[in-house]
This record gives sequence, structure tokens and C-alpha cells, in this order.
Amino acid sequence: MARHTRARIDLSALRHNYALARRQSGSAKAMAVVKADGYGHGLEPVARALSDQAERFAVACLEEAERLREAGIRQPIVLLQGFHDDADVTACAELELEPVIHSDHQVAALESAGQAVTVWLKVNTGMNRLGFAPAAVEAVVQRLRAIAGVTLKGMVTHYACADDRDDPMTDHQNGIFSELSSRFPDLEFSAANSAGHFRVDSPRFHWTRPGIMLYGASPMIVESAAELGLRAVMSLESRITAVRTLQPGESVGYGAAWRAERPTPMGIVSIGYGDGYPRHAPTGTPVWVAGARACTLGRVSMDMLAVDLTAAPHARPGDSVELWGAHVPVDEVARCADTIGYELLTGVTARVPRVYDDEISGQ
Ligand SMILES: *Cc1c(COP(=O)(O)O)cnc(C)c1O
Repeated sequence: MARHTRARIDLSALRHNYALARRQSGSAKAMAVVKADGYGHGLEPVARALSDQAERFAVACLEEAERLREAGIRQPIVLLQGFHDDADVTACAELELEPVIHSDHQVAALESAGQAVTVWLKVNTGMNRLGFAPAAVEAVVQRLRAIAGVTLKGMVTHYACADDRDDPMTDHQNGIFSELSSRFPDLEFSAANSAGHFRVDSPRFHWTRPGIMLYGASPMIVESAAELGLRAVMSLESRITAVRTLQPGESVGYGAAWRAERPTPMGIVSIGYGDGYPRHAPTGTPVWVAGARACTLGRVSMDMLAVDLTAAPHARPGDSVELWGAHVPVDEVARCADTIGYELLTGVTARVPRVYDDEISGQ
């Protein structure tokens, strides 16, 4: 008998969120970022659900792109970190992948490979992780254009602080990138991550790169996903497996970390950090139980956690629990656990089946 712990994936919400990304992109197009197994939602189903809307996909690495090609995705696929091994240039050519070139060693690999590959150039405008300095761009462009078979499609940069509307860093990065875009009018430019879609003054250039917003979590520090018009795609669900009433002085869970001060109805839920629910979520982290908002009690175990049923006194074993999703925003759980929605969504473990809305209908 299955334990009813699952991640329900609402692909219509995903499509809604992509359409919002397109609207927020103005005249630019949006390459759908589906790295890290579609941010934990399942790479292939996510890409298939977007494949009639998205004109490009972006992933972190070759392994992810290979899976997309095996799944029948035909759109151009951008490899955001390029290739890691010189031998992978051949795979890029064969699978028509577009690596982002961020280092001299990659340029050298292209020079010696003699393959027909379309590439993007990564420019470091302030993030200081990957990319060529703006002053080095001219020379790299010349070098790339001299390689037979290699087509330079455009340039990519990445914002460091776009989640904070008041941070001047984004304008600084846009200034550098805009100057490059006017110097290379025949190339296509891409800067905006999800947060960049919600900055009125940020140029969208030719391509945006929405990631987290597609999955319905907020990319901004202040605004919630609902305020931005996003819909939660994943509902992490389980069920109550036992109920009991704790008497004053009784504790629950490891370390006896929480103790009742009054008689407290409590439910045990079959989900824990072994499923990707954050162990750092403290007492009071919101959950949705049997149609009411409740909260966790005590420490999260590997396979279970405790919830306070004061708000849902009639809850019984078998009743459903939403750990995050349409009723409890993942961003709220993340804030309680001192992390971000990105980490929680990508951290749901393989033990949790992903169930897609087309498989759910009719139940
Ligand atoms: C992950 C990633 C994105 C998407 O970022 P979100 O904040 O999830 O929208 C865009 N560009 C690059 C280079 C990335 O690595």
C-alpha cells in the first residue's frame, strides 16, 4: 500500500506561468529554463508541456540536454555552462545544442574540434562567477568568428541582485550589457532571469530566461508569487497517519524539542527530510491539513513530522496534508526554514513520486 506522499504537478499552472513570462518580456522571447530536473518537477514532462509555447530551452549541462533530445524536444537548447569536456563539442554539434562559452579553454576546444556549433558568449557584468570581461569581448568575438563552422548567436549575462528592486547593481549590469548590444547589433542578447521580468526599467533585450517563476515561486524578495500573478505548480502532499492528544508537559519527536502547555490534538504526517521536506523548518511552519491552515510541531524526522491539529480538530488518519502548494506557498516554508523556494523545489527526493495533473483527473 502506497503511503500517499507525492508531488502533484499542475502543468496548466506551468503553462500559465510561462505565458506570464512572455507577457512580461515585451517584444523579447523567453527561453524556458528547465535545469535541475525542471526545478524538481520532472524534466521531460515540464519540457513537453511547454514545447508548443517555448521557442528555446535552457539547461545547465549536457546530460540534461541529452534527455530533452531523447524526449523528442526539437527546439534549440542552450547549455548555460557550455561544455565541461572538450570531447563534448561533438555532442553539441550532433544534438544541435548551443553551449554558452565563458572561458578561453572552451574557445580553444572549438578551434580544434572543427565542428559546426552555434554558441553564445557569456559576459561578466558583475556576477563574477563565469564569463569574459566586457573589455575582452571584442577579441573573443573575432576569435570565434574566425572558426569555420562556429556561429556566434549572441551574448548572455546574469544578474546578481535583480530580486531586490532597490539594488543599483542591476542597472549597472544593464548599462554594460546595453553598450555591448549597440556595438554588436547583429547578435541577440539575453540578461533577464525570472526577477528581471518584474523590473519595469530593465531592458529585456532579445531573450529572457525565466526559471523559478515558471514553477510558481516568487523570484522577488518582497512580492509574493500570488502578488506577481504566478500559480504554484507543485503541491507536496501526504496524509495523516496517526492522531493523538498530547497532555500538558508531553513532548513530541527527537530531542523532545516541543512540549505541550495545554491539551493539544496532534497528527503525524508521513513525510520528512528523506523526502526533501526541510529538517530546519521550526515549530510553527505552516501546513494545510484537512482544509485548514495548521503548523508543524517539534523536529522534522526522516520519514515523518508532527502537526498541530488545533485548527483542524476533526482531522483523522487518511486526511490529506499539503506541505506546500496552492494553499501554503513554498516561499513561506522556505522563509521559515531559512532557505529559498528554489532549494526546496529542487530538493524533493526521488522517493517522492511526481504525479502529473493529466494522470490525476478522473480520480
Ligand atoms: C538558473 C538560471 C536562470 C534562471 O534563473 P531564475 O532565477 O530561476 O529565473 C537564468 N540564467 C542562468 C544563467 C541560470 O543559471
